[in-house]
Amino acid sequence: MEDELMGLSLNEEEDEILQIQIEPNIEGGEEVFRGVHIKDLGDKRFLFQFYHVMDLERVLKGSPWTFNNHLLILHKFQCRDDPFKVPLFRASFWVQVYDVPIGLFLESLAIRLGNFIGEFLEYDGLTLGKENRNYLRLRVNIDVRKPLKRRKKILFYGKCSYVEFKYERLSLFCFFCGRLGHNDSFCEAKMALGVEVTEMG
Ligand SMILES: [Zn+2]
Repeated sequence: MEDELMGLSLNEEEDEILQIQIEPNIEGGEEVFRGVHIKDLGDKRFLFQFYHVMDLERVLKGSPWTFNNHLLILHKFQCRDDPFKVPLFRASFWVQVYDVPIGLFLESLAIRLGNFIGEFLEYDGLTLGKENRNYLRLRVNIDVRKPLKRRKKILFYGKCSYVEFKYERLSLFCFFCGRLGHNDSFCEAKMALGVEVTEMG
């Protein structure tokens, strides 16, 4: 028997097969910003104290935020957290996915791609089709220490193609090693490679 309706799999760095099902997703809501108190804790850490929980949620939802083109990593502070030790290496981004085959603009595909890129958070089904939007849009939580995923190979009805990822509001980014926080003039991976090449030559 041939594969039936859902004959889709993705493949790039990892071997995994994706199966697609249709589910709608609706979300909305917008709140007014009311104020924040900021305390410098030193060691590049800041404590932001909001006066309204809706402001906090609005800021978290609006990430990524940058300062001087550097990414601001946010962590929702809990009472028991040590502000000097909370891990600061995850950030949420909106990701646009291009070259998605027609018929695959689905939340289920967004979830699988999101979990390939990082940790899937949200699917933007609301703006689909508006203003000639021709990409899939999803929100992903990413470990910023790792290189960003740039594309993923899809096998759909026996036909291979790539979907490409574009990260919205991406700040300082290295095109050489794919990591955030520096550009390719200051890339350790590139410099290491440069040394190697010199020694070999
Ligand atoms: Zn680099």
